[in-house]
Amino acid sequence: MSLLCRLTVNIIGTLLRILPMPCPTGVFKIGNPDTTSPVLLTGNYRLTVHRVRRALRGTDCYLLVANSRGINVWCAATGGLLTNHDVISVLKTSGVHERVNHRRVILPQLAAAGVMSGTIHEKTGWRVIWGPVYARDIPAFLSADFKKTRDMSRVNFLWDQRLEMASAWAFPISLVAALLLWGFWPEALWPAVCLIWGTSMMIFLAFPFYAHRLNRGGKRIGFVFFDFGQGALQLFVWGIALLGILFYSVLSGEFTWAATPRWLLLTFILVLVLSIDLTGSTPVFKSGLHEDRYLKVTIDETRCKGIGFCESVCPRDCYELAGKGQTVSMPPAARCVQCGACIVQCPADALFFTHPSGKILDPETVRRFKLNLMGKRLK
Ligand code: SF4
Ligand code: SF4
Repeated sequence: MSLLCRLTVNIIGTLLRILPMPCPTGVFKIGNPDTTSPVLLTGNYRLTVHRVRRALRGTDCYLLVANSRGINVWCAATGGLLTNHDVISVLKTSGVHERVNHRRVILPQLAAAGVMSGTIHEKTGWRVIWGPVYARDIPAFLSADFKKTRDMSRVNFLWDQRLEMASAWAFPISLVAALLLWGFWPEALWPAVCLIWGTSMMIFLAFPFYAHRLNRGGKRIGFVFFDFGQGALQLFVWGIALLGILFYSVLSGEFTWAATPRWLLLTFILVLVLSIDLTGSTPVFKSGLHEDRYLKVTIDETRCKGIGFCESVCPRDCYELAGKGQTVSMPPAARCVQCGACIVQCPADALFFTHPSGKILDPETVRRFKLNLMGKRLK
């Protein structure tokens, strides 16, 4: 792929990140693999496949692309769109078993919320190895004989990811705003687009300075007031912004009734940007929109066998296992983003979610429905 093509995929992929972007599934050769070469698997989200291929440049291996409905691996796995069935299907139908003499497949760790390693082994004979969270760490992981450092297992939200997320939010909103303003108020089009991009960038790039406030009182909320989960607050902010502008225009003698719908639209666009589901746009918090953010992972110590699967799939480094065979503990549990991966993978069914009301979300339900149906799965 030429540099221009790569750049185009990256830019379009980033701007349209919130939309599904499917690409072909199947098995693909990277470099000159032979029968002993590693086999890696990812979902068919175009941007991810592109990044995995780029990370694997200079490596000889096979890349399996499973059907994740054009959605990134983590969202697809937690939403039940990248499942055991999809992984089994690509392992059995792609012909990869004829190309290698081993049965080890490396899956992205973030797929652990939706794909059960035990079931894959039982149905196909392939052993699942959980790879790193980010594609950029794959070469180091392969060179270290499939060993992950703690950093390779953890999600983070560095400036480049924040920049991407700001663009992913600003682009569709500015597109809609531009279409509306084009015929309605053309002079305000460029100032509105600049306002949308500027606000979006400010929200995401300044994230480290206010992130600690997003977890106040144990409740996950969005950007201060501006979260859809905060009820009518957006309407209140919209009203205040509109009244402020109208008040100013009356005082300055420029008020006209004809201009009022325009200000209504412009202030609505601003409130829309400020209403970004900020926590849900980061990998380090749960969405402010879902009840799931109140769930707490609980350990049944009588069942825990100290196998450590939970520790190896947790993207927030919540677990500590003192030694093999000992009961696992969760000292930094506050970091949990309720992805459910530990519960899905625990072979002893020692983990489950509890709601502050005392209701329980058992492992079987988490495995079956993932994070769909929201609070309706509680018993
Ligand atoms: S909770 Fe489950 S996966 Fe974690 S150490 Fe105990 S038995 Fe293993
Ligand atoms: S402890 Fe929380 S963040 Fe870690 S794997 Fe379990 S549900 Fe996910």
